[in-house]
Amino acid sequence: MPELPEVETTRRGLQPHAENTTLTRLKIRDHRLRWPVDPALPERVAGRRIVSLGRRGKYLLIELEGEQWLMLHLGMSGRVRALPATTPPQRHDHIDFVLDSGDVLRFSDPRRFGSLQGVCGPVLAHPLLRSLGPEPLTEAFSGRYLWSQSRNRRMAVKAFIMDSHVVVGVGNIYAAEALYRAGIHPSRAAGRIAAGRYDRLAGAIKAVLSEAIAAGGTTLRDYRGSNDDPGFFQQDLFVYGRGDQPCRGCGRALRSIRLAQRATVYCPRCQR
Ligand SMILES: [Zn+2]
Repeated sequence: MPELPEVETTRRGLQPHAENTTLTRLKIRDHRLRWPVDPALPERVAGRRIVSLGRRGKYLLIELEGEQWLMLHLGMSGRVRALPATTPPQRHDHIDFVLDSGDVLRFSDPRRFGSLQGVCGPVLAHPLLRSLGPEPLTEAFSGRYLWSQSRNRRMAVKAFIMDSHVVVGVGNIYAAEALYRAGIHPSRAAGRIAAGRYDRLAGAIKAVLSEAIAAGGTTLRDYRGSNDDPGFFQQDLFVYGRGDQPCRGCGRALRSIRLAQRATVYCPRCQR
């Protein structure tokens, strides 16, 4: 499933193809995504210049002139590629953003959990975006912030940092790795962790996401989004997917549990 690093990698890869071109045509081959694509959308956006390609959480935000926005979510299996417009579409290629440059941004999504929505006016006020927590790679996200948000909260810290109202983009793999690096047990109550430990955790979250984005930048072409693993970054995993294997820090067998319906691996010695 595309997580924040894959979406950001996609954004960076598409940005030079998209910005300062004109969206000559929005071609919808299949409206049946997670929510049906508005049939009036192509007419509303055709002919508009693309001002910027941004991201909020796991949404790609295509800013068009005249304060029109397109919000694209990759869902479970979606991806977008920049291709010559003459490239014949394949079976799961549901949407084409046809550009005046001769390129097309092609969205394919075999499982169709992705979505495309048009927004007029301030996009960050959209119901799907306005209650999201801060971006993890900005200064607004810090140990101090996590500490203040977690007071009196009894939920497990892993579920807490995976809550998009707390912070966006910390998926299962990144939560597990960051908790290991910070030495924090994944089921410890969020409200019972001291400020200094949250400083380490915020730093670890920023580090694992930055490393994944850096790795993804070089392997974008190979990214298929066809399973739960990002396909890169695997050699650097300390705990994710390594249940019963020896901890790389202390050698003890890593333990595997279910936590908030998600598989969770941790080291019983290194994480407290
Ligand atoms: Zn260990």
